[in-house]
Amino acid sequence: MIYATKKFSVRNFEGDIEIPAQKIDSLFRELLGSEQVKTVAAEIRRRLGRELRPYDIWYDGFKARSSISEDDLSAQTRRLFPTPDAYRQQIPSLLCKLGFSRDNAEDIASHIVVEPARGSGHAWPCVGRQEPARLRTRIAPTGMDYKGYNIAVHEMGHNIEEVISIYRIDHYMLRGIPNTGFTEASAFLYQHRDLQLLGYGPQKLDREAVLDAFWGMYEIMGVSMVDMQMWQWLYNNPTATAAQLREAMLEIAARVWNEYYEPVLGEHDCVLLAIYSHIVNSPMYLPNYPIGHIVQFQLEEWLADKEGSEWAKEYERCYRLGRLTPDQWLRQAVGGQLSVEPILRKIESLGI
Ligand SMILES: [Zn+2]
Repeated sequence: MIYATKKFSVRNFEGDIEIPAQKIDSLFRELLGSEQVKTVAAEIRRRLGRELRPYDIWYDGFKARSSISEDDLSAQTRRLFPTPDAYRQQIPSLLCKLGFSRDNAEDIASHIVVEPARGSGHAWPCVGRQEPARLRTRIAPTGMDYKGYNIAVHEMGHNIEEVISIYRIDHYMLRGIPNTGFTEASAFLYQHRDLQLLGYGPQKLDREAVLDAFWGMYEIMGVSMVDMQMWQWLYNNPTATAAQLREAMLEIAARVWNEYYEPVLGEHDCVLLAIYSHIVNSPMYLPNYPIGHIVQFQLEEWLADKEGSEWAKEYERCYRLGRLTPDQWLRQAVGGQLSVEPILRKIESLGI
């Protein structure tokens, strides 16, 4: 796929994300077309004891929570977080569990406001040092269920990054992070530790966590490619009708499927990758997720041997680097550049 339209690549990719579309495309293809996909698929096949089907793109048997009943978790979160305010009050304690000092945790939490979400949960960044970061999540009258809690922890990961990268940066003009993928990486770091915050023991980057991260990337890179290609198509066909866009979308989804998913999950011309309808109203947002997962994995490896206060200090050091270019940020944070190599190498080292 050649991303030829200037407007397409310059404004979103070279301007906001600061990575050319072509480079993102090859990054995704490197993982999607890797031998490691076949290795992990074979492992899932072994565990399920049957041939894989297209919906196994969402296989979640590598997740730690798959061994704990969701009802039990929901009972616990409803009790702990009956209202948005109850969650807000507990943010300092949650941060302390990850190694932040009490003072530091209180200070970060003082810049976060928790509000009920009307739609899906989200985080609203502070726009200046006088503004709080807003965490919005859905809480039923009966309290926060596990799903709501898991989302709240994700959004809190955004808020912590937002507070640190604006309030604690030396030079205000350098505030922020390289691009949206880097705030997603922070959100994923915390979301990944949601059970640890409920008292289930530290979340390690063990074999299951690596497999889970890899399979998640495999799924989200496919839908992101569909997103990028759909927008490229729309730029090439600016007068297209809604019906034509729909046809193009299905064709693109099937093409990406046939190339990278049919060989492991079967079903020629499957259109499952067209499932994210919000790619139409949030243009080119999806690629931020795989970029976030790649950055998260690089951070997880870097943080793997750090515990408690050392973990929290190192996390904060990274997110105080400011709005550098993505590669420069990663060089200073973990000593590497944006790459899928670390996770490919790690999968290989599992010896499956
Ligand atoms: Zn997010």
